[in-house]
Amino acid sequence: MSFESLGLAPALLRALADQGYTQPTPIQAAAIPLVLEGKDLLAAAQTGTGKTAAFSLPLLQHLSNSGKTMTRRPRALVLTPTRELAAQVNENLRDYGKHMHISTTTIFGGVGMGPQMQALRRGVDVVIATPGRLIDHMQQRSVDLSGIEVLILDEADRMLDMGFLPALKRILVAVPRQRQTLLFSATFAPPIKALAMQFMHEPREVSV
Ligand code: AMP
Repeated sequence: MSFESLGLAPALLRALADQGYTQPTPIQAAAIPLVLEGKDLLAAAQTGTGKTAAFSLPLLQHLSNSGKTMTRRPRALVLTPTRELAAQVNENLRDYGKHMHISTTTIFGGVGMGPQMQALRRGVDVVIATPGRLIDHMQQRSVDLSGIEVLILDEADRMLDMGFLPALKRILVAVPRQRQTLLFSATFAPPIKALAMQFMHEPREVSV
């Protein structure tokens, strides 16, 4: 199995070569073709399996293939339980997208709202956010979610464990109904299944 055979664009293949990755991990091999087809995806994968690249690579490909990048409204939203994970996802997106023109920003608590507002005003393609601080920006009307095409919930089980269900529900109803939704979780516990039933469209399931 190679990254080429998964249908990834040359700019991404170059970035993967720069990273020294030679072949996709099992979650990447299973998830990438489905995500490139535009399907919703419910993926059971732990940290360390390569799950971040499993959603980041097809996301970057979608953004660079369709529509305009570097517009004012964000086109993709990645939700993470912690600021550390948000920062890590942002770094990965920048590494994999380094041969593309895609802008990203992180939104999380514990730091000032001002610089985040400025970044959003300048315009970004991808917002990587923790749920609580994103809600703050929604209330301040400093983030416009009306252009979101792809929504990713990373470590969804941890977000629920941390009490983010009400925030997640508010965010899920604020993004356009017509979108692609990807949910990554260590387990498919009943509350995760319920969230998927309510907010996803015929999700394909992958577990590794
Ligand atoms: P994650 O599960 O997303 O936290 O990724 C775990 C680690 O695996 C990260 O340090 C990645 O940089 C690395 N990684 C992801 N995909 C690959 C791959 N296909 N080959 C080698 N390393 C990878």
